[in-house]
Amino acid sequence: MLLITCPVTRTDELVADRRIRSVVNHPTHIALHVECPCGGVHVYRTGRRWEAARRAAAARPAPELTSA
Ligand SMILES: [Zn+2]
Repeated sequence: MLLITCPVTRTDELVADRRIRSVVNHPTHIALHVECPCGGVHVYRTGRRWEAARRAAAARPAPELTSA
């Protein structure tokens, strides 16, 4: 099972593995083409380097969780 967020309906959808149409390996990430319950096919990217690149792009100070 795979939890995705549908960009069309903006809802979280739990989809079965067989709904994954294709998996494409890229140097920086893996692209999953997933058949969504909304009827569309969405592409999701996953991978350590992809996550790292995203984190770097979204770098901002973490909220201070320990302050009273
Ligand atoms: Zn969808």
